[in-house]
Amino acid sequence: MKIQFLGAAGEVTGSRHSVEAIVGGRDIRFMVDFGMFQGGREATAKNLEPLPFPPKAIDFVILTHAHIDHSGLLPRLCAQGFVGPIYCTEATFELLKILLPDSAHLQRSDVERAVRRQKAGKWRGDLPVALYSMEEAELALAQCEVLSYGKHLELCKGVELEFQNAGHILGSAIAVIDIAEDESKVKRCVFSGDIGMKGKLLMPDPALISQADVVVIESTYGDRLHKTLAETESELIDVVTNTMNAHGNIVIPAFAVGRTQEILFLLIDLVKRNLLPHLSIWVDSPMATAATHLTQHFFSQLDKESQSTFEWFKNNPSAVDLRFIADVEESKALNKIKGGAIIISASGMCDAGRIVHHLQNNLPRAQNAIVITGFQAYGSLGRRLVDKATKVRLFGEEVQVRASIHTIGGLSAHADQAGLLDWLRGFRSAPKSVFVVHGEPEASAVLAQAIREELEWKNVVIPERLHSYSC
Ligand SMILES: [Zn+2]
Repeated sequence: MKIQFLGAAGEVTGSRHSVEAIVGGRDIRFMVDFGMFQGGREATAKNLEPLPFPPKAIDFVILTHAHIDHSGLLPRLCAQGFVGPIYCTEATFELLKILLPDSAHLQRSDVERAVRRQKAGKWRGDLPVALYSMEEAELALAQCEVLSYGKHLELCKGVELEFQNAGHILGSAIAVIDIAEDESKVKRCVFSGDIGMKGKLLMPDPALISQADVVVIESTYGDRLHKTLAETESELIDVVTNTMNAHGNIVIPAFAVGRTQEILFLLIDLVKRNLLPHLSIWVDSPMATAATHLTQHFFSQLDKESQSTFEWFKNNPSAVDLRFIADVEESKALNKIKGGAIIISASGMCDAGRIVHHLQNNLPRAQNAIVITGFQAYGSLGRRLVDKATKVRLFGEEVQVRASIHTIGGLSAHADQAGLLDWLRGFRSAPKSVFVVHGEPEASAVLAQAIREELEWKNVVIPERLHSYSC
């Protein structure tokens, strides 16, 4: 059996791993994840790079979860000739129906904007390329087949798949794949996907797997420990209490899928525990609204504490005034509210979407607060705010930053180093090979070393992109 790492090797994005084996005398090849590379020109080049084998040669794809860096190039793969099934959980499929068409839409808008700027003489260099169209995103969705957690499915003769809950986002799965290379010997490969933080809001703890021959593990935060949830809560209580007392607004930029629901849950839970007073919350992002409805739909997949908090809110609907904004007019009407509102909107890094309007409106007033809850990439507007810019340009206008800017850590969707090691301790004996992927070089190296030292596992490899490894 061979694994070739086509992405998320030495970096966080672009997860896609090819597995080749001879099963029952037949060559098979499948992919685990088929994600988009994100961030900068290099990512664009990698997204356009042809595969080292024809897409037609892939028998099937196993998808761990819906995040674009794991799923985002599936439409391109299908458009290039892959016709097999894409296996994922039901919640992942529902999220893909939101995320893939949105990704196609964003790409098209980027191209259109660049063309307009080029015509106006304001664009230098190459124009961006749309990786796929809306129709191609729909085609990929038609190839999805859902599999519930804990159920076994024979994908072809000699290959069996089981999904276990990874506790990362709604629908996220650890893929447990049994491959019978010969009748007497079955090799078990476990792909962690992205592993959630133990005790994280909304999601249950990641499932432990007791045995594997090969483990492929993520390492996003392989070199650090997160703040505790208690610290995060007290930071949030301080900001909300102080801002509400000063009659200001709070603007929270948040990714529509996952982070928005976590913040909502956290705020409602703090009201339930009498740690915050009655709140007025507006969620202003159509995608966040859709993702929040999905979270309610998959209620039984949430952890027990979150279920009881949602039940409480259902019985005490007046405790929090929660409104989902549907149209642009309603969104604009929020500009009139000068105090007492909590506005959650996307994009998470403040670069696009309705959040920019809310920032334009709320940044100039000192009694307002902006609460940053997620990673802000270098060069993004969110990063400039975190870096204490005193003025920013929004829609071509200079805006003074007088509102206070707060960064609340501790809401990570990924396990930290201790969480990753804990998950690995679930294996009763050392796997024959461990591959550390999905991390910046430093994070992967530190985690690999911790696995060697603390678990005393020997064969720990940080794979190089495009290299194949026999195992
Ligand atoms: Zn993810």
